[in-house]
Amino acid sequence: MTAAAESATVAGDAVALHIRDVGMRFGGLWALSGVSFDVPRGAVLGLIGPNGSGKTTLMNVVSGVYRPTTGEVVYGGRRIADVPTHAVCHLGIARTFQVVKPFANLTVRENVAVGAMYGRYGAKRSTRASFERAQELLEGVGLARVAERPASDLTIPDRKRLEVAKALALDPDVLLLDEVMAGLNASEVDEALELLRAVHARGVTLIVVEHLMKAIVSISTSIVVLAEGKKIAEGAPADVLSSPHVIEAYLGSRWAKRQQSLTAIERERLAAERLRADDAR
Ligand code: ADP
Ligand code: MG
Repeated sequence: MTAAAESATVAGDAVALHIRDVGMRFGGLWALSGVSFDVPRGAVLGLIGPNGSGKTTLMNVVSGVYRPTTGEVVYGGRRIADVPTHAVCHLGIARTFQVVKPFANLTVRENVAVGAMYGRYGAKRSTRASFERAQELLEGVGLARVAERPASDLTIPDRKRLEVAKALALDPDVLLLDEVMAGLNASEVDEALELLRAVHARGVTLIVVEHLMKAIVSISTSIVVLAEGKKIAEGAPADVLSSPHVIEAYLGSRWAKRQQSLTAIERERLAAERLRADDAR
């Protein structure tokens, strides 16, 4: 590595987000503690872990909804843990909500246009340009057919699509996706993956929270696993998912014990079955 490249790396150019020793306490409960990892620029980071392990809380910390009790988030060389949500959005970080929150009385197109108007480049966009951008995004996520309907009319899968379009309307560099595939059927999941790949191909760094292992494995460049608010593993998808520690904490201890008495071939077959069963749910 040249000295210039090295100093660029140190300055944070290769890293979109540094998460440093982040802790979040709610009363007596530490929903997160001592969580540190880097999100490389251009990564698709899969963030997984059991229910209640702190995934959504971490998204809330990164997007400025919560101020962490300890630690720091560094984005573009800047500390953002104290930066309010709207300012975080203007810096280029957008997120979706696990429990979707459209403006129920606005149409689907208006919902997305609001993001285009008040998001990162909103000040440079006319109302007309914002509506045009909204229409383009709705076509991209497959919602053009319901653009004129009030958001409250949408089915759950369509609300998830709207959630993604609203976040994209903010023109993010980093997009946090909280279970946007929950409740979708197999072909809808494939469509969602295709959409996320297209977003990623345009240069957006993604952090993806999803329970569907097949989806996580197929899209992630690296994976971080949380359990009870702590990071328990990090690395390449294949390595992380075959780690006994992760299997024990996330995929289930009964499965881990059973695995110990099996041959490698049996283990692979069962792992494949397990992934299929997860996907069928
Ligand atoms: P995950 O998204 O991984 O399922 P969460 O981040 O939603 O987990 O929750 C982690 C833990 O923090 C849970 O025990 C949850 O009940 C708790 N928690 C999350 N948000 C709050 C809050 N605003 N107030 C109190 N406890 C919370
Ligand atoms: Mg959650």
